[in-house]
Amino acid sequence: MDRCSRQEPRMTAEFRLDLALIHHPVVNRSGEIIGSAVTNLDLHDIARAGKTFGVRNYWVVTPYPLQQELADSIVRHWTDGYGGRVNSDRAKALSLIKISPSFEAVLEAMTEQDGCRPKIVATSAAAQEKRISYHELRQDIVAERKPVLILLGTAWGLAPSVMELADAVLPPILGPGPFNHLSVRSAASIILDRLLGCRESTDQL
Ligand code: SAM
Repeated sequence: MDRCSRQEPRMTAEFRLDLALIHHPVVNRSGEIIGSAVTNLDLHDIARAGKTFGVRNYWVVTPYPLQQELADSIVRHWTDGYGGRVNSDRAKALSLIKISPSFEAVLEAMTEQDGCRPKIVATSAAAQEKRISYHELRQDIVAERKPVLILLGTAWGLAPSVMELADAVLPPILGPGPFNHLSVRSAASIILDRLLGCRESTDQL
C-alpha cells in the first residue's frame, strides 16, 4: 500500500478528514469576490461538531493578519488559557483548529502530512456539478482510501475558483420548502452527521 493509505489500524475515533472554513475567496450577494470576517461562533460550533464526528483538523482560512490574530487569540483562550482550564471539553474541540492564510496552504500542509493530495469536496446550498453522494463519501472516509478535505464557505458561498478546484461537491441540504439559508455552522453539523453519525439502521442518504 502506498504511504497515502493508512498502514496502522485506527486507534482513535478520528478519520483523515479535515474541514476548511474559507473566508476568502467567497462571494457576496452580487456574486463579487470578497473576504469575510472570522466569527467566534463559527470557530466554536464547527470545532465542537468536528470533534464529535471524528474530524482531524479544522482549518480556519483567512488571508488577513488581524483576522488570523483574532482567531488565534480565541483558540489560545479556549485551549491553553483560562477557558481551556475551566472547560476541558471545549479545549479538546478547539484544539482541532489550525489557522491558515490560504486554501492552497491548507492543501500543501495536508499533502505534506499524508504523503498525498486529499480528495477535495466542496459544499453549497445550490446544486453543483461533480456531485458525490453522502453515502459514497462516507465510504471513502471510513475506508480511508484517501484523506478528505471538506470545504465550507462563508458570506454567500465559496468562490467559483474554489469550486473549480474541488474534486466533487456534496448535494445541498434541502428542506421541504423553498427557504434555504442555513448558517455554515448548522450546515457543517448536518453534513458531518450525514457522513459519520452513528445510524440505528443502515439507511442510505
Ligand atoms: N448561498 C450560499 C451557497 O450556496 O453556498 C450559502 C452560503 S452559507 C451562509 C455558507 C456556507 O454554508 C456555504 O458555503 C456552505 O458551505 C454551507 N451551506 C449553507 N447552506 C447549505 C446547504 N443548504 N447545503 C450545503 N451546505 C450549505
